[in-house]
Amino acid sequence: MKVDWLIVGAGFTGLVLAERIASQLGKKVLVVERRDHIGGNAYDYYDEHGTLVHHYGPHLFHTNSEKVWRYLSQFTEWHPYSHQVLALVDGKKVPVPFNLNSLYAVFTPGYASKLEELLLKHYGFGSKVPIFKLRREASGELHVLAEYVYEKVFYGYNLKQWDLKPEELSPSVTGRVPIYISRDDRYFQDRYQAIPKHGYTQMLQRMASHPNIKVLLDADYREIEDEVKFDGMVYTGLIDEFFDYMHGELPYRSLHFEFSYHPVNTYQEVAQVNYPNEHPYTRISEYKHITGQRVYGTTVSIEYPMAYRREHNLPYYPVPREENRKRYNLYLSEAESLSKRVLFAGRLADYKYYNMDQAVARALGSSRNR
Ligand code: FAD
Ligand code: UDP
Repeated sequence: MKVDWLIVGAGFTGLVLAERIASQLGKKVLVVERRDHIGGNAYDYYDEHGTLVHHYGPHLFHTNSEKVWRYLSQFTEWHPYSHQVLALVDGKKVPVPFNLNSLYAVFTPGYASKLEELLLKHYGFGSKVPIFKLRREASGELHVLAEYVYEKVFYGYNLKQWDLKPEELSPSVTGRVPIYISRDDRYFQDRYQAIPKHGYTQMLQRMASHPNIKVLLDADYREIEDEVKFDGMVYTGLIDEFFDYMHGELPYRSLHFEFSYHPVNTYQEVAQVNYPNEHPYTRISEYKHITGQRVYGTTVSIEYPMAYRREHNLPYYPVPREENRKRYNLYLSEAESLSKRVLFAGRLADYKYYNMDQAVARALGSSRNR
């Protein structure tokens, strides 16, 4: 078989690049995927109860990029949805990111209003303050608040999620959910927030349906690379695996999901409830809140973080911290020496904690240079 491009991985990155190369450059593409489905970690499907669920955990699309939004809108209609998250703190469910409403959920009205006044005075309404910044800068009552939020919202969650304390990770990780000096309970404030009306898989399927694109599932690229002639390769898998771990393994975190069906209208108040403290899991997600599906009964997933072990489970998250970035840079140098023939891109090949819109932006950006 002869194609112009061999693309390894049928997630967001691989399929956006496939679609661009096929439709804009008129080239033939073979996408090879080792799972038995397309979509990578964004894969969703209808379970046996007819509920649209996210197989690898809750995926909320949000972006400020008009370019990304317009690009994806060619392949899907949208169901508008703004994500909301509560976290169980001292037996109460409080809005996360921690905001002014959260103050009133955990403290007496008098104390909450005192803290609100201090936050407004120091940071101003509408500002977002990462927990490390608040801990560093705050004094008096605000310092006590900073320690409280650190301990009750971040500390235990991080131990479970990463097996690391918050300060052992890049500050960008906890910086994803800064304290929000606002009454806005939405998890994201991006301009565009929605879910593909009929799911991510259908949207990505449409992207892959170009006549110049063939998709081969259930196959590792190493099984077929000698059988297929190609001019260029896009690789969206693990960068350390590509180079046979020559600079040692890059760490990843994995997850285990327990899905269960409940014959009730709704299981919990909002789509996601986080359990930062005493529970062995980090979050419970209820999908019908996200999709707006009107079906009887409901499906939830409980998420248990765990170490990634090759061939035992899947690499869900790169682990953003300095020592890993240094190791990744060794691989990046190797990748650069192959850059005429292989493009490395995506969450695993770039070893970056990309959201879906960032993966799409990355792919759109690199397709222009092909
Ligand atoms: P992936 O989806 O990982 O795709 C890579 C593909 O390559 C995989 O399908 C893999 O099987 C395949 N592959 C690897 N090696 C080989 C090989 N040797 N041969 C063949 N195939 C191979 N983003 C958001 O924007 N919002 C969210 O709410 C959100 N929630 C998330 C929740 C969880 C639990 C996780 C893990 C991620 C979440 N993300 C979210 C991030 C989102 O999943 C990623 O940004 C996106 O999936 C990245 O796409 P990708 O194509 O780069 O990588
Ligand atoms: N986080 C936390 N407590 C929470 C929510 C988030 O400590 O209740 C921290 C934690 O480090 C987590 C990070 O913020 O890994 C990013 O959270 P996000 O919800 O973006 O994680 P993802 O959906 O990517 O798993």
